[in-house]
Amino acid sequence: MEKRLVIIGWWFGWLRSFYNLSWNKELKITLIDKRTTSSMKPALPEVSFEWKNVAETRFEIRWVVESNWGIFINDEVKLIKGDENKLELKSWDVIEYDFLIVAPGANKAYSDIKWLEEFSYSMCDDKHAPKLWEALKNFKSWKILIWAAKSVWWNQIEAMKWEAPCEWPIWEAMYMIDHYLRKKWIRESVDIKIFAPGPVFRWDAPNLHDSRWMPVFLDHVVSEIKEKSVVFENWKELESDLTIIIPPYKWFQFLIDSNLADEKWMLLTDKVNMRHIKYKNIFWVWDINTVTMPKLWHICVMEADIVSANLKNEVWENVEIPKFEPEILCIMNMWWYEASVFLTDKAFSWKNHVFWYGKWQGILKRQFDFYNMFTKGKMPPKFWEHFIKRAVKTFWKWETDKK
Ligand SMILES: Cc1cc2nc3c(=O)[nH]c(=O)nc-3n(C[C@H](O)[C@H](O)[C@H](O)COP(=O)(O)OP(=O)(O)OC[C@H]3O[C@@H](n4cnc5c(N)ncnc54)[C@H](O)[C@@H]3O)c2cc1C
Repeated sequence: MEKRLVIIGWWFGWLRSFYNLSWNKELKITLIDKRTTSSMKPALPEVSFEWKNVAETRFEIRWVVESNWGIFINDEVKLIKGDENKLELKSWDVIEYDFLIVAPGANKAYSDIKWLEEFSYSMCDDKHAPKLWEALKNFKSWKILIWAAKSVWWNQIEAMKWEAPCEWPIWEAMYMIDHYLRKKWIRESVDIKIFAPGPVFRWDAPNLHDSRWMPVFLDHVVSEIKEKSVVFENWKELESDLTIIIPPYKWFQFLIDSNLADEKWMLLTDKVNMRHIKYKNIFWVWDINTVTMPKLWHICVMEADIVSANLKNEVWENVEIPKFEPEILCIMNMWWYEASVFLTDKAFSWKNHVFWYGKWQGILKRQFDFYNMFTKGKMPPKFWEHFIKRAVKTFWKWETDKK
């Protein structure tokens, strides 16, 4: 008999599982999202600091779902009733499921810091990114502060707890703003400072940044934003003409109300199958999953493949479940048409760490983004990933260091 799979949240998390499973008619797949378009977050720094039109980072989701035999519901999930296999929507509709994938991303809690929304700018979503570009275009003063807010973790699953779970966009902001100001011939008169909420800036590559080029201040937690300054928890107050932030990552209230999340943070799963520790027919993937640390696309793809394999085993065939072996593979914009590729499992086993930088990498980044948008959210074939890894290891040194 046909089984009902419901997926909450439609971007990276659901898409990977959706494309993996949608062709099989033994699963009836329903996707629920409160938005109607996708948002390709890795392209948002280009919206914020370059010329890119935000429309080029989105596509209509209904068409993609329906042309792949799925059902799309544009609504917000308010409650999951794990004991009854049901969920409630804002419209009061009730949806029943046999299997549920929960992938609503992390809640970027702009309202948790006083005046954050009013007096600062962010590259983290497609509502804030275009505003940041407008502010940068009209920028005439001389002090820029860039920082990530502190996210708090406290859970029963053993997982890393990075104070800033996705610090890479800060790195992109540093280089892209530097480039932009140089192009305008005003870089020398602009003072840029970076603040990290924990004892390390970028846990994956703590020694990579040269603070002589742009100072980074560690252990600085922001408590309030003012129109022309930023106040830290240690009462230090610094002037700022343009404040750029990554907000705190937080849980969604509907998950707490549904008694599915832990007290402080996200969802509890095992690390082998990504199933909820109480409700075995509920899977959690991507940023919302406690074990996803850091919060990064590449790790999300691994989790989605694990979930897809589990569902295939449940419904129609026996396949091997891929092992969860997280690593960081990330291509980041730097100066004009340049990018850097990071490949590391340093954060996980402290064995390998590679950084490869240049113009070819910039071409790779843009090709990757183009492919992802052109194919409506599909990842490039596996050989592309192998090629990148091979290139990184061949052209740059593969460092091995011991903790
Ligand atoms: C600026 C920026 C740049 C990044 N760059 C990179 C990069 O270069 N490489 C990389 O690997 N990673 C990058 N990341 C991280 C990557 O974007 C995330 O890991 C990824 O987006 C997480 O995917 P997700 O599906 O969990 O969540 P999201 O992409 O946040 O999608 C969640 C969806 O769920 C929906 N939703 C939420 N709540 C509900 C509800 N109650 N009911 C219905 N729908 C709901 C939302 O509308 C949203 O569409 C970047 C992140 C940012 C912010």
